[in-house]
Parts: sequence; C-alpha cells; structure tokens
Amino acid sequence: MLVKDHRDIHRQFNAIFEREGLDRIDERLSILEAFLSTETHLTAVELTRILKEKSVSLSEDFVAENLILFSRYGFAQEKKFRGQVPRYEHRHLGKHHDHLVCVRCGAILEFYSPEIEALQTGLARRMEFHDLQHKMEIYGLCANCVRKREPTIPLTMASPGERVRIIGFMGGKGMERRLTGMGLNRGADVEVIKSSGPGPLIVASGGTRIALGYGMAKNILVSMTQTTN
Ligand SMILES: [Zn+2]
Ligand SMILES: [Zn+2]
Ligand SMILES: [Zn+2]
Repeated sequence: MLVKDHRDIHRQFNAIFEREGLDRIDERLSILEAFLSTETHLTAVELTRILKEKSVSLSEDFVAENLILFSRYGFAQEKKFRGQVPRYEHRHLGKHHDHLVCVRCGAILEFYSPEIEALQTGLARRMEFHDLQHKMEIYGLCANCVRKREPTIPLTMASPGERVRIIGFMGGKGMERRLTGMGLNRGADVEVIKSSGPGPLIVASGGTRIALGYGMAKNILVSMTQTTN
C-alpha cells in the first residue's frame, strides 16, 4: 500500500519537475526517494546525512531547496516546532495526526485521538466557526528525559512551563534569607516562565512574577511536581 503510494508520488513529481523546467532531475528524485524511505520528521541536515550513507553526496542547501519544493507541491509538510529548525514529514493525503514535542531532546511523537478530534470539531461548530485545519502540539519532556533526570535539580535546569517545588537552598544562610525574602520559600510551588536566553530567569509564585539572576537561581533546588491540568 505504502510502496504503491510512493511510486505514484515519484511519478507525479517527475511530471512536475519536467513542467517546471528544473535541472538535476535525477538528484532531485534521489532526494525524494530518500525522504519517502523514512517515516520521521527530518531536517535538511539529517536528510543530507541519510543521502550520504546511500553514497549520494549533495549539499545541504540543495537538499533544503528540494524539501521546500516538495512542500510547495503538497508532497511534504513543513513543521516548525518551537525552538527547532524546520522539519519535514510526508503528507499522506487524508491522514491527520498531532504531535508531542520534547523540549529537552527534541524527540517528536505522533498521536491521533478520535476523541480530541471530535471535541475540537464540536467546539468550533458550537462557536459557529467553520474549521479548515488545526495543529496540536504538546510541549514537554519525553519519558526518556524524565527518567534520566535527577529527582532534584537546580532551578536553572527546569524548562519553561514546568511547575516545580522548592525543596532547599545552596549558598549559605545569607542566600537563603535573600531568596525567602523574595517569597521563594521551602515547599513553595513555582512555575518556570523563562529559564534560558538573555536576561533574568522568570518564575511565577502565587500569581506574582519574580525575576532572578542566574547566580541566584542556581542556588534554588527544586523537584518536579505533578502537573494538575
Ligand atoms: Zn488533530
Ligand atoms: Zn526527550
Ligand atoms: Zn508528524
């Protein structure tokens, strides 16, 4: 079924290449072939590496250009997940799915839930909205990353969106006094708003945002709390 699908795509694309008057058709077809032989969400760099393993040496730029071309003609779909370079996946007509994205290792898991799909359609209809398409992306930590992580980490290692509980302090009594003076007490639950990039780390505690320099934040030890929503 899948093979027949792909052969058909191959033929359709060959016709498009010719109509567009494109050169290097054999090379483009080998990129398409390699792309169709995978079932993941690939970056141009990853696809270039896969081609190289098949002894097809092409530049990253040329591979990237073709992935954009495949997307333009509806054979691939570009996915821009937050904090990642563009990735491409097959576009099998009529087969919809949504994604779980790990913010730590970049793993992407696919899911399809008829219940969620029905809820979304129902909701749109109740709001008299004619829905055409949607994407659902759930950002978080994959099972692997959760397993690998220490039970207690410095606040600076928590990810944005995470709710953590303060379980202790480092840096002596003076540091602890400064932090508790800001409302960051042992046992308090905080939500990490921003944990990387320039500027301070931002956490929310009891409805207030607190800005912390990296030097201070690394002295706060936290544990993961169960997400309740
Ligand atoms: Zn969906
Ligand atoms: Zn992960
Ligand atoms: Zn996907």
